[in-house]
Amino acid sequence: MTETPKRRTATSLIHAGRIRTNLHENAEALFLTSGFVYDNAELAEAVFANQVPHYQYSRFANPTVNMLEARLAEIEGAEACRCTATGMAAVHASMLCQLKAGDRVVAARALFGSCHWIVSTLLPQYGIESVFVDGTDLAAWADALSQKTAMVLLETPSNPMLDIVDLRAVCDLAHAAGALVVVDNVFATPLLQRPQKFGADIVVYSATKHMDGQGRVLGGAVLASQKWIDEVFQPFFRNTGPAMSPFNAWVILKGLETMALRVAAQSENAEKIADFLAGHPKIARSLYPTRPDHPQQKLAMAQMSGGGTIVAFELKGGKDAAFAMMNAFQIIGISNNLGDTKSLATHPATTTHMRIGPEERAKLGITDGIVRLSVGLEDSLDLIEDLAQALSSA
Ligand SMILES: *Cc1c(COP(=O)(O)O)cnc(C)c1O
Repeated sequence: MTETPKRRTATSLIHAGRIRTNLHENAEALFLTSGFVYDNAELAEAVFANQVPHYQYSRFANPTVNMLEARLAEIEGAEACRCTATGMAAVHASMLCQLKAGDRVVAARALFGSCHWIVSTLLPQYGIESVFVDGTDLAAWADALSQKTAMVLLETPSNPMLDIVDLRAVCDLAHAAGALVVVDNVFATPLLQRPQKFGADIVVYSATKHMDGQGRVLGGAVLASQKWIDEVFQPFFRNTGPAMSPFNAWVILKGLETMALRVAAQSENAEKIADFLAGHPKIARSLYPTRPDHPQQKLAMAQMSGGGTIVAFELKGGKDAAFAMMNAFQIIGISNNLGDTKSLATHPATTTHMRIGPEERAKLGITDGIVRLSVGLEDSLDLIEDLAQALSSA
C-alpha cells in the first residue's frame, strides 16, 4: 500500500500528481504529443527492454494523463489508476483484461445501459457466463455467488433508480466465491463514497460526468492495486488502445480543481428538489438516497457521506405527463448526460434504458413515468420554479 496522504481531499483535488517542467509553469502542462524521442538508438532499446523509464508513446502513457491518474489515485486512496478514453472503455477494459472463456460474472441488474449490454450481450459472445441479480437482495447475491465466480460488477447508487447495494456484504460474498469486485462509482463520485473501504477491488468512473462536470470532454478511470494494474490491466490497455487523449486529461485536471465545490452545491440543490417533488400532487414518488422515504436510506447513509447530485421521480401521469413536463422546461435541459453544472433531465424508458426492453425495465422499476434529473449548479429556487411551472403542464 502507498502511504495514505496526509493532506485532505480538497487539497489533493488541486495539487496531487503535478509534474512541473523546468519552465516552472503554475497550471498543469498539456503534453499534446502522440510520441516521444530518444537521444540515441541504444536508449530506445533500453526503454523498450524496460531498463530505463522514459515516455514512449501516448497510447501507453502520457505525462498529462499521468498527472490525472496520480491525482485520482490520491483522491480515491487507491494504489494505482489508469485513465481511459471514456467511462465505457474503463468498464470494458477492466473486465475484458481479466476474463476468459469459461469464467462466470455476476452483476447487479440495475446498471448503466451500456454496462448492462456488456454483461448481457458481449461477455456471453466470448463464452463467459453472466448472471444478473437484484442488487438490493442479499439472498440473491449469496445464491448467485455460491459457486466459483471470476468477477462481480455493480453500481451504487444505481442508474436511474438510485438503488443502494450493500458494498461490504457483497464484497465479502464475492471474495468467498473467488471473484474480484468492480464498482462503478459514477453516481457517488470519490467525494461521497470510497468503495475500496468496503472491499471493492476495482473502482471505475466515467470522468465525463462530475470530474469534467462542465459537459466538455469524455473520459474514464480505473483504480485498483498497483499489482493488478501492472500485471493484468496494463498489458491489455497498452495493446488494445483505450487511452485517454492528453487534451481531455488536461480539461479533467481543471475540472477536478472545482469538483468538491460543485458536488457539494449540486447535492444540496438535489436534496431540496427531491423534497419539493415529494410533496407535489402530480408526483407518485421522489427518490433520493438520503431521504427518509428511500427504501435503503440507512444503508445509503452508512456507505455514503451525501446523497449525490441525482434525483429520480415518478409522474402519476406516466409517459405523457413526463414528456409534457420535459417539453415545458425553461431552464432544465433534456439530455442523457449527468453530473453537469447544467441541470439535465432524461426519460430512461425511451432513452438510456430503451434497449433493455419492457420486461427488464419492469424488473428495475423503470416505469414510463420515471424521470431522472441530474441537478446542476443553478439557483435551487429557479430550478424548483422551473419544475413547478413545467409540472403544471403535465
Ligand atoms: C456515463 C456512465 C458510464 C459511461 O461513461 P461514458 O464516459 O459515457 O463512456 C458508465 N456508468 C455510469 C454509471 C455512467 O453514468
